[in-house]
Amino acid sequence: LQRNPGEVEFHQAVLEVMDSLGAVVRKHPAYMDERVIARLCEPERQIIFRVPWVDDKGKIEIHRGFRVEFNSALGPYKGGLRFHPSVLLGTVKFLGFEQIFKNALTGLPIGGGKGGSDFDPKGRSDMEIMRFCQSFMTELYRHIGEYTDVPAGDIGVGGREIGYLFGQYKRITNRYESAVLTGKGLGWGGSMVRREATGFGLVYFVEEMLRTKGSSFDGQRVVVSGSGNVATYAIDKVHQLGGKVIACSDSSGYVVDEKGIDVALLKDVKEVRRERIKAYAEERGAQYVEGGSIWDVPCSVALPCATQNELDEDGALALVKHGVVAVGEGANMPTTPEAVRTLRDAGVMFAPGKAANAGGVATSALEMQQNASRDSWSFEHTEARLAEIMRGIHERCAATAEEYDVPGNYVLGANAAAFVQVADAMIAQGVI
Ligand code: NDP
Repeated sequence: LQRNPGEVEFHQAVLEVMDSLGAVVRKHPAYMDERVIARLCEPERQIIFRVPWVDDKGKIEIHRGFRVEFNSALGPYKGGLRFHPSVLLGTVKFLGFEQIFKNALTGLPIGGGKGGSDFDPKGRSDMEIMRFCQSFMTELYRHIGEYTDVPAGDIGVGGREIGYLFGQYKRITNRYESAVLTGKGLGWGGSMVRREATGFGLVYFVEEMLRTKGSSFDGQRVVVSGSGNVATYAIDKVHQLGGKVIACSDSSGYVVDEKGIDVALLKDVKEVRRERIKAYAEERGAQYVEGGSIWDVPCSVALPCATQNELDEDGALALVKHGVVAVGEGANMPTTPEAVRTLRDAGVMFAPGKAANAGGVATSALEMQQNASRDSWSFEHTEARLAEIMRGIHERCAATAEEYDVPGNYVLGANAAAFVQVADAMIAQGVI
């Protein structure tokens, strides 16, 4: 805590993992002797830089850029870029730390990293977004590369931003290095299913979890927070599997649509027109609640897919009161520690983000594979790989929880399985 003052979210993410590791280090004392935990908590490299650019009015604006290259034991640093005004170094460190374990769980050769900026893309013109991305990449390019560090999208960074970032990288380096970024457009090196992957993967994971209790998504009443990339495709997949999503949100409020969220309209409002969820409610004739808590909407499955710490203890108590059976984290660390305890004490199945939302980064690694072999796979083939990876992650977490005598505890299962893999690789590679 003293080494990283004020980095509240980073402390929270580290404590969450440490909470699971007592039994692991008792079984493997070498992890303490080799000081693996202390090494893991220290990023290999942290880059902070100025991002100056000129807005549409001709005014010079200054933002702060970050890239935290956290751990390369398993492969090149891999993790998204977040553009949101709330981004601080501690935010990027929490996300980068989580990413190490998530990437290990995919079973693919990728290390952990994360980046972003306190730039707010909301209300900016396309040209402003482009100029910002170009300035951001003008510094970032020297730190990244196919074999070094491979960024992708996150909050505020979607296909449009990845396009501008890639264009500037190519222009500066004079290299068509496809695998330097993932989340690219389908016509220029992107992968089928990357856009859908995090939301789809989340639903596959929760489906596996429900299956352990003889249940499925069929007939479930589902609430999904957020209405961005992860939320949209989680809603889509829940509907494909026979569930009904009746509410979703943005940072201004939430919509309750008892007919079931219309995914085509949602995509049009959010992805094409870039409007607020209120516009969806008005067009659909559905109820819109400004502010408030989406967790007050009764449901049997809840999928927080917006941002960190959005599901607090009051939200968890409301979900328990309404008889929720499963909660799956689409976002990174959306559930506060108190809320996780409340859900656990009430016997609610809980899928932690580092396992449940790993489908996005897994498909990014598949995009890198396709780029390396100058190939592109079909939607069906790529989705089948994603589904197989998510089932594998579920199985690994469940088996590890059994191994440590806490069956059904996916938090411990995910943390312990991922930690052991990364720690063993770090020890094998010496004190570096
Ligand atoms: P998007 O930017 O596409 O969407 C984010 C959504 O969350 C929007 O609806 C946004 O509403 C809402 N939101 C963002 N910040 C807040 C806030 N402070 N309070 C309330 N609502 C908020 O991002 P993604 O869908 O890509 O990411 C969502 C989450 O999933 C993040 O935690 C991200 O780290 C995680 N994730 C994403 C992956 C991916 O592949 N994209 C992979 C793995 C995890 P508004 O428009 O009003 O801001």
